[in-house]
Amino acid sequence: MSDITRRDFVTATAATAACAAVGVTPTYAAAIAPGGGAQPVRAAAGPVIVGSGNCLSGEGYRQRCIDRVVELLAAGKGPLEAVVEGVALVEADPKDMSVGYGGLPNEEGVVELDASVMDGVLHRSGAVGGLQRIMHPARVAKLVLERTDHCMLVGEGALKFARAHGFEEMNLLTNEAREAWLKWKETHSEDDDWIPPEVDENGKQSARWRAWPFSYGTINCCALDVKGNLAGVTTTSGLSYKLPGRVGDSPIIGAGLYVDNEVGAAGSTGRGEAVIQICGAHTVVEAMRQGKSPKDACLEACDRVVKKNRLKRLQTKDGRPNFGLNFYAVNNKGEHGGASIWSGSQYAAYVNGEAKLVPSAFLFETEK
Ligand code: ASP
Repeated sequence: MSDITRRDFVTATAATAACAAVGVTPTYAAAIAPGGGAQPVRAAAGPVIVGSGNCLSGEGYRQRCIDRVVELLAAGKGPLEAVVEGVALVEADPKDMSVGYGGLPNEEGVVELDASVMDGVLHRSGAVGGLQRIMHPARVAKLVLERTDHCMLVGEGALKFARAHGFEEMNLLTNEAREAWLKWKETHSEDDDWIPPEVDENGKQSARWRAWPFSYGTINCCALDVKGNLAGVTTTSGLSYKLPGRVGDSPIIGAGLYVDNEVGAAGSTGRGEAVIQICGAHTVVEAMRQGKSPKDACLEACDRVVKKNRLKRLQTKDGRPNFGLNFYAVNNKGEHGGASIWSGSQYAAYVNGEAKLVPSAFLFETEK
């Protein structure tokens, strides 16, 4: 039995029989995936796309990310190109202040972007960290995957690489993001020389000190195409007002993104430090490998974060995380799921030809 192992053959044969029972085209199901295993029986017809809620926003901007991914897959593009070009719409959208152009800057007022991509077909990845002046870090990450022998470029090196590939440099700081940063700068401490205007925008006496909440935001998008191939992308401006050079989970393979054609794909948004410390997306994929549904796998990763969150300054009075994070997952059967530590989140899914926001599973009810 030349290229196909006996196990693959038996699994493929079983898949074909199962498909016949549920009326799915057996030729597809019996095909051998590039990863070497047999294609699983699909739970959904057509492609499945899963990601953060902003895959479905984009009012006023040309097109929603998810619609673009669907369009590109339908045009025969691979899932990697499709997701990278889908999130490019959000990277270019000044209204999304957590991604690309218009993203909130670091503590010095400089926008620094992180992104990663992963391709399940050849199990390759690419990433950039702390990239300045380039609107589309996910495209640069895809070129790191395709045109270097490396997995990640950061800072000045990533910028030089983007320049070499002809990316246009620009000021990524919009007026809105600059004003938000300035307000933070002038009010997050009483012990410096920055002073807010006497009255704030509501005509009230400006406070010199404000406890600013953590401000996160990112786009993650993973796609399963009709051939059973997976790819994913995560792209972000990261934590607002971060220390220059701070890199979050988004460009870290296994943290903000992980794809394995033989199992599924997962991504995350929210407090990147916590995701990195439990290897979040990898944890989700490995839980799916052990047989968990995407939703339960995402919940398991959230639970791991809660159990490992031992610093008092990161806990509520009940000992729960005082931050939020979300996981999104799709398995190679096309089942999808999402979970967050706290209630109230939604994730985006495109399944059986329909794009929708789905309530995420959660561990704790958000206190009102
Ligand atoms: N995970 C991102 C980071 O920590 C931010 C976010 O998703 O909100 O940089």
